[in-house]
Amino acid sequence: MLDINVIRRQANEFQEAADQKRIKIDICELLALDELRRELMQLTESLRAARNRRSKVIEGMMREGRKAEALVEREEAAVQQEQLKQAEEEYRKVLAEYEALILLVPNLMSPDTPIGKSDEDNVEVRRVGAAPEFDFAPRSHIELGQQHEMIDLARGVKIGGTRQYVLRNYGLQLHRAVQQLALDLLLDKGFEMLDVPVLVKEQTLVATGYFPANRDQTYAINGEDKWLVGTSEVPLIAYCSDEVIDLTEPKRLAAVTPCYRSEVGSAGRDAHGLYRVHQFAKVEQVVLCRADLAESLEWLEKMTANSEELLQLLELPYRVVAVCSGDMSQKNYKQYDIETWMPSRGSYGETHSASLLLDFQARRSNIKYRDEEGKLQYAYTLNNTMVASPRILIPLLENHQREDGSIYIPPALRPYMRGLAELQAA
Ligand code: AMP
Repeated sequence: MLDINVIRRQANEFQEAADQKRIKIDICELLALDELRRELMQLTESLRAARNRRSKVIEGMMREGRKAEALVEREEAAVQQEQLKQAEEEYRKVLAEYEALILLVPNLMSPDTPIGKSDEDNVEVRRVGAAPEFDFAPRSHIELGQQHEMIDLARGVKIGGTRQYVLRNYGLQLHRAVQQLALDLLLDKGFEMLDVPVLVKEQTLVATGYFPANRDQTYAINGEDKWLVGTSEVPLIAYCSDEVIDLTEPKRLAAVTPCYRSEVGSAGRDAHGLYRVHQFAKVEQVVLCRADLAESLEWLEKMTANSEELLQLLELPYRVVAVCSGDMSQKNYKQYDIETWMPSRGSYGETHSASLLLDFQARRSNIKYRDEEGKLQYAYTLNNTMVASPRILIPLLENHQREDGSIYIPPALRPYMRGLAELQAA
């Protein structure tokens, strides 16, 4: 939870960040609730103290045999008890409203975050590699997938409904190959590999900043306090929750998990193919470091570079964009997206998302470390996609297709594809 004292001191900045992130919250209302909450807390405490004092007085009267006086005191005590009950009820109500509201307050943004309304206002930082120029009519990943019997959308829908797919044969091999390449790269960079639950408790999603804002994007298990995560960032951060961790060296964690997203609100958008599906696999990088802005900004660059290295090994053209305020989630302080060239879309499409959250998540998750003076501090957290598949198969298949229908496999992937250098024309 953000520190209410900091919100009070920088109320205008928080309101501005909320407006720029298009989050509906009135910071003045939150501060008024906070005042009321504190007043009611004081009132209940003083009523409770008065009741305890009176109980002692009554006890004394009874011991001394002053029964009539004790009776009068008891009647007054009953009135006082009723007042206390009402004050406690009021306090609990206001506290619940306050706690619900403070969960919606956004993180502030880095001064260099572009201000804008949507992803159209994101600002390109760099472009690497050139989009291929085909001297034939290129096929989409859907056509290539059918041709090579790798992607079966119809049966995916038959089994699971809309936005579902089946990967077959080389489709599955490529899907696994990109994930293993991504994991191996992270292993070389000192990341600890974890296999984590994707079914988590509601509190885990609140603590990582996904709830309440993203509740409608998340699948719930009927009748249980269990939810399917949309990213392994959630269990990786929760792995450190309520702990004092050693951050002499930044903690680097990676996982590969299925991710589930309801995609509520994107009705009809990217409805065909593998771009926007309900279930996909993602290799995720998470870093926890000390509460040092310069160090955390460096890690954001390093984690972005890790993903860029993978794209370069896959020989895919991409660009890095600085995500603007209106496209940034509540919890982020600074964010880069990487967009990879997708010929069938005739544009770059988002394949990676790197975020720095400062202590936003660590406060909610209670993740602390000891600084040089031995004082407990909240950690800073970061996350980035290393690879998400099958979305990455779109640029992989489409950019590497040849006129005869064969598909080139970059050397970095071949060890994971039994040495295959190309998928031959079917
Ligand atoms: P996010 O956690 O929303 O930043 O997403 C990280 C990455 O996961 C995106 O850049 C995509 O590559 C992938 N991704 C997100 N949502 C979907 C989806 N519905 N279908 C397929 N891939 C997705």
